[in-house]
Amino acid sequence: MKQVALITGGTRGIGLGIAKSLAQHGIDLVLNGMRPEEGVKVVLEELTNLGVSVKYVQGNVADDEARKAMVGTAIESFGQLNFLINNAGVAPLERNDILNMTEESYDRVMDINLKGAVFLSQLAAKAMLNAKATVSNFEAAIINVSSVSATLASVNRGEYCMSKAGMAMLTSLLAARLGADGVGVYEVRPGVIATDMTSGVQAKYDALIEEGLFVTPRWGLPEDVGKAVLALVRGDLKYSTGQVIMVDGGMTIGRL
Ligand code: NAD
Repeated sequence: MKQVALITGGTRGIGLGIAKSLAQHGIDLVLNGMRPEEGVKVVLEELTNLGVSVKYVQGNVADDEARKAMVGTAIESFGQLNFLINNAGVAPLERNDILNMTEESYDRVMDINLKGAVFLSQLAAKAMLNAKATVSNFEAAIINVSSVSATLASVNRGEYCMSKAGMAMLTSLLAARLGADGVGVYEVRPGVIATDMTSGVQAKYDALIEEGLFVTPRWGLPEDVGKAVLALVRGDLKYSTGQVIMVDGGMTIGRL
């Protein structure tokens, strides 16, 4: 039986990079995003052309009904869910000093980036444990896409940093809870990746890269993250459950 992955925010940017890597490995996909299906048709076709089945679920990860629809679609369409990739995430709409961060922005970012991943993981983990109990050799894993912002403090987007730091603990908690049942849980921590999210700060990072901000002197690409996730999904790092996989071009290496 083919394996099935659910990727939130899977139709563009890093999520799409992950979707392509997994599709090239023959894994069927359930992709979630905010856009109506009509708006992502070309992307879905492109992935289908790689030889896998692809389902799309429009909806907000912060919404309980939408999360149920995502896991429900995997089970109803494919009969199983092997891998959950918690990738959907947003930056604050407005950058504000931590002393002026609004409660509204805090709620929005935490709801999407952290609450969505927490409660989607609950649903997915239960489906995975059920399958583990009934299907022999059933492979399952949860992968959280966080950010170097989990540890690097940006005082003008604190809510984003806190949401990603929370994801680090979510990874530890789930890894500890699910390890004995053979469900690996990992955190993939990208640095600065060229996507719509970072298009507004392109000139800033072009200059910083020129000045040596990263050890590897280039922008990260969605496929860099895709390759790391594929290694985890393939089971190459099975004995490393709960760990952080850095995909940051050496950005966070302490240098003197
Ligand atoms: P992006 O803005 O290009 O794509 C985000 C995707 O998430 C989109 O498909 C969007 O529809 C979806 N999404 C947004 N809000 C959603 C919601 N409420 N419910 C469901 N889907 C939603 O961003 P990206 O750069 O590809 O980022 C993907 C993830 O990687 C995010 O969690 C982000 O925080 C993280 N990240 C990005 C970078 C970077 O430099 N781009 C670095 C580190 C971490």
